[in-house]
Amino acid sequence: MIVCKFGGTSVQDAEAMTRLAQIIHARIKQQPVVVASAMGKTTNQLLEVAQTAAKGKRQEALDLLTKIKEKHLKEAQKLGIAVTEDWVAEAISAYFKEMRDLVKGLAALRELTPRVMDAMASYGERLSTAILTQVLENNGMPAQLMDARQCIVTDDNFTRAGILFDLTDAAVAEHLKPVIKAGKIPVFQGFIGRTTGGSTTTIGRGGSDYSAAIVGAALDADDIQIWTDVDGIMTTDPRMVKEARRIKSISFNEAAELAYFGAKVLHPATIIPAVRKKIPVHVLNSYKPDQEGTIITDEAPPCENPVKAIAFKSGITVVNVASTRMLMAYGFLNKIFEIFAHYKVPVDVVATSEVSVSLTVDETSELWDIVTELKKVGEVNVEGSKSIVCCVGDNLKNIPGVPHIAFSALQDLKIQMISQGASAINITFVIDDERLPEAVRGLHDAFFKKVDPLIFE
Ligand code: ASP
Ligand code: MG
Repeated sequence: MIVCKFGGTSVQDAEAMTRLAQIIHARIKQQPVVVASAMGKTTNQLLEVAQTAAKGKRQEALDLLTKIKEKHLKEAQKLGIAVTEDWVAEAISAYFKEMRDLVKGLAALRELTPRVMDAMASYGERLSTAILTQVLENNGMPAQLMDARQCIVTDDNFTRAGILFDLTDAAVAEHLKPVIKAGKIPVFQGFIGRTTGGSTTTIGRGGSDYSAAIVGAALDADDIQIWTDVDGIMTTDPRMVKEARRIKSISFNEAAELAYFGAKVLHPATIIPAVRKKIPVHVLNSYKPDQEGTIITDEAPPCENPVKAIAFKSGITVVNVASTRMLMAYGFLNKIFEIFAHYKVPVDVVATSEVSVSLTVDETSELWDIVTELKKVGEVNVEGSKSIVCCVGDNLKNIPGVPHIAFSALQDLKIQMISQGASAINITFVIDDERLPEAVRGLHDAFFKKVDPLIFE
């Protein structure tokens, strides 16, 4: 049994859905479960509809909604679906009727709660999967549309709901297993779930990967396939370094580290349920289904290169805090982290000395409140327009001389912060944004001059 997840671009239009049907057809013996995202940018558009409505712009919101409906109908009709009054046409009509009612309510109340945002966003996946189910049927496959909300049980932290795993695992067994046993292909919405009280939730933007991993783990799948629009995980972003190579095999730890530092291929949390069950995750390109992509496994095979990939994130802010009481200031770090925790702002890189600490943050919306609090603890200065560059590899800890190679590659640059975690699978540098391309290219040249053919293409 395998779980095949298709992201927004892999279901964006009729052509993409046809490719999807071929991919599933070729894997039918492996008992696929399909998990799909909303078509293209639908989620963004639906949230825009809700925001527009909540500003009181009722007609504008309704017009936007009509456009989204037309897009779905047009792509479905290209596939011979929803041309007459079939069940998909009825579902689409019903969903848009419900959304119009939501819009009218929002426009009257002029208040947008996270709960309503989730209700609205959920229609994206519900629409795409309704169409997809019929696409599979039309291509000769017995498919069954599921309601992910029966299976994915969450808390009520709307827009970023947490999974209640025990309830979810039981619900997946109850609702999905019989469908697979009956020889059908379940078509399941990514991203959405439901509270025990029955409210629709979403599990965070880009959460369909997570849904796939949750379902895969609950079903003890043999493989989780993340079908996307890139060749797999690359040694770095090919738009930055055109010599970037595909990584054939990577460990969960490495992939998590990369995802965290901005590699857009995979939602970091995807890793967790799959890791727990040691289920391999494949990242595959739906435009080139015969390519082998990248496999993410519990333990990657040995690799001769110390660095597996170079990830980066720009537009980072560095916050420096110096203890005003200088030495012996125990509790200093504690106070600082408490402040970030209070504002729920994640800190990415940390470097400390006896009297000062530097931290990087990605989110700056609450920064001024944070700085005000930090000033009670020490002297604070904030520097924007920084970038994090992160060399990742399980092998970093085994191969000596890696810092030397990295520093040589960066010798012309001013390095603001350096950190190597205790796990020793990454070395991270913080530099000025404007020097980022140079840094990434330099490091890529240095670490991938020669590559292990078993691991890289
Ligand atoms: N459709 C959702 C989003 O755009 C979930 C996903 O694509 O994974 O965030
Ligand atoms: Mg996505």
